[in-house]
Order: sequence, then structure tokens, then C-alpha cells
Amino acid sequence: MDDFNFESKLLSTPFPKKDNYNSLSMPIYNTAAYEFDTAEEMEAAFCGRTPECTYSRIANPTVQYFENRVKTVTGAFAVTALNSGMAAITNTIMSIAYSGCNIITSRHLFGNTYSFFVNTLKPFGVEIRFCDLTKVEEVRENIDSNTCALFLEIITNPQMEVADLAALSAVAHANHVPLIADSTIVPFSAFHAKDFGVDIEIVSSTKYISGGATGLGGLIIDYCVFEWSHAPRLKEIALQFGKNAFFVKLRQEIHRNFGAYMTPQTAYMQTLGLETLDIRFQRESRTCAELSERLKTIPGIENVNYTGLPDNPYFDLSLKQFGPYPGAMMTFDLASKKVCYSFMNRLKLIRRATNLFDNKSLIIHPASTIFGTFAQEIRDKMNVSDKTLRLSVGLESADDLLNDILQALNGA
Ligand SMILES: *Cc1c(COP(=O)(O)O)cnc(C)c1O
Repeated sequence: MDDFNFESKLLSTPFPKKDNYNSLSMPIYNTAAYEFDTAEEMEAAFCGRTPECTYSRIANPTVQYFENRVKTVTGAFAVTALNSGMAAITNTIMSIAYSGCNIITSRHLFGNTYSFFVNTLKPFGVEIRFCDLTKVEEVRENIDSNTCALFLEIITNPQMEVADLAALSAVAHANHVPLIADSTIVPFSAFHAKDFGVDIEIVSSTKYISGGATGLGGLIIDYCVFEWSHAPRLKEIALQFGKNAFFVKLRQEIHRNFGAYMTPQTAYMQTLGLETLDIRFQRESRTCAELSERLKTIPGIENVNYTGLPDNPYFDLSLKQFGPYPGAMMTFDLASKKVCYSFMNRLKLIRRATNLFDNKSLIIHPASTIFGTFAQEIRDKMNVSDKTLRLSVGLESADDLLNDILQALNGA
């Protein structure tokens, strides 16, 4: 199976146990607990000496199968599926952060990630050091022996900034700091995180993977290449488990205590979504690339921002890291917030909704929604302009999408 390509590997991941009824798709094991034949077997399972499931907050066969499929196609050593992208981020950080540590990141962050860092972590004594991650020197200057992570998003939203992952991971690793990347914007069919030195990859599977916005989910993808023996929270565990220390900490403590494991129903839907991930992504990202080219020529639309456009400042880096179709999301500016609103209100095909990479195209005005409760000063620092609209491109025809934009623009 190792010889197969992505698409085939994905569809041929075997079940860990033969199904009693030879079911071709993994059944939904809708159960909280699992029965044992003997007390001895129960002890062995609870103490981790056998792989049997004990309780569905900790593991569930349907979710494990989804995790296995992600492992197969990413080549990761360990995958944990949680009930949202935010749960994946919080569980990851809670496994490595400690009072007195600092996290190096950018202000260009998903709104709730920013709030988690700045509001939730602060009272626990975690310092957030905001840097311009496009300047490797700035990261080098800010990193120190209490830095527990370098955290970034591979293409920031809505600024569409791209950092040089190989350069950043080199600085991080020279300082024994793991590089944690939120790769939600480009799926792992197109972006191979491990090749660029990412240690822990985080994905909101709510987006491309769910297969049409069927529900929320998050993935923690661990390549088990980082040497955790210098990480204060993990060095003890690393003595015994080496490069698996993060995974062991996460699975044996943090994720059990936080209780945000994916549900079997969601895992079933996301396994189906995964089967068509690549084909949907190819279609959506190509339409996005085509549409961004065409929008650039339309009067009234400014600053079309898609890193796959050859005149984009991040084009070369984006091409190297993500290939020619870096995601299915773009932003563009209209004359004012008022014009943005009247444009949005006239759209007939494109839906007014948050979320990304639904099968349907979605538009949102980030400044007044995702960042709507942030102070103006913070929005300015985050470069979230109230002239900007974010468009997530779905599976509709590029011509119809363009025509919808043109008719909405004419009246706006
Ligand atoms: C949506 C999103 C998240 C959060 O994921 P949820 O599944 O909504 O919790 C995190 N990071 C990025 C880049 C996202 O787009």
C-alpha cells in the first residue's frame, strides 16, 4: 500500500479488525463504553497494555479509523481527532505550555486562536510574543529558553501572508523549539507539512475535510520527529518515549482531561469527506485561481489577494510550499464598508456565511464579523480592513460565480 498514490491510499486503508458483517464502510460505533469478558482484560485495556477501547472520551473505533486514514495519507506517526479546530489548537498548546513560558506567533491569526492566546492563556502566565513571521531575524531575536512553541498559520486569513516554513523551522529547531503550523487553508493533499520542518500540524477538519460543512472537527497531526527532551513539560516523558513524548502526553493526559474527542457520527462523515477531499480541493482551488485572475480586471474591485497570482508578493514562496493552487480562499477590497454590505446583500449565488471550503461559495466581511468584537486598534494591528471581503470558493461554475459578482457590483 505504501506504493499507492494519495487518492488510492486514502480509499484502501484497512480496518484494524475484520468487521463481523464485512461492512465496506466503517460503522458508526455509537457507544459510550465497551464491555470486557474478564476483569483481567479490563485491567490490561485500562492500563494501556492492550489497544482495546474502554470509553469513548478516550478512543472510539469509528474515530480511530478516521485517524488512521489521515495517518495513511500524511505519513504522520500519530493523529488525534477532536471536536473542532479550536479543540485541536487548545489541546496542543495545553500539552506543552507552562507558567513562565512564551509562545512566538504572529498577530495575523484566526480570531479565536488570537483570543485563546491573548485572553485565555494570559492568566496562566503564558506570554505571547507577536512577531512579523516573514522576518526570520525577528523570530531569532525573540526566541529564548522559555519559548515553548513557534506557532503560525501557513497562509494567514484574511491578510494572506505566507511565512518561509523551512527558514522558520531551522531557527526553531536550533533553539529546541517545535514548529506548530495550522494548515487549515491548504489541505495535506497539496501541502506536505513534514517536508518543510513542521513538527505538529493542526487542521480544522470543519473546512475541506468535512465534505461540505457537515460538522465541526479538528486534527492534531504529529510527525514524531521533534526531540522533546529539552521541552520543560515533556522532558520527563521524553526520557521514556523520546520523540513520541508529545503524543503520549496528549493522549494519556490532556485530551482525556479536556474531553473534546471527536464523536463517531462526525468521524463517519469526515471519513466520507476525506474520500473526496482531493477532487473537491482541485476543483475549488482552480476555480479560485481563475476567478482571482478575472476579478483583477474588474473596475471597483481592488487588492485581489490570492497567493497563486503571479504578481502576489508571496507567489514564489507559496508555489514552493503549496503548489500552483494555494487554497480556495481569496480576499478583495471594495470602496468602503458600505459598498461591501450592499454588494453582499445583492449576491444571489454566493452565500453570506462564515466557514471555509464548503461545497458552496461563501462570502463574509471579516472586520465586522469574525473580528467584530475586537477593538479598532487591535483590528488595525491585525491588518483587518473594513473594505475587505473574504470569498471561499465552492464547486459552482466559475462563470456563474463571476456573473453573480458582476451583477452585485453593478448595483452596489
Ligand atoms: C476555522 C479555523 C480554525 C478553527 O476551527 P474550528 O473547527 O472552527 O474550531 C482554526 N484555524 C483556521 C485557520 C481556521 O480557518
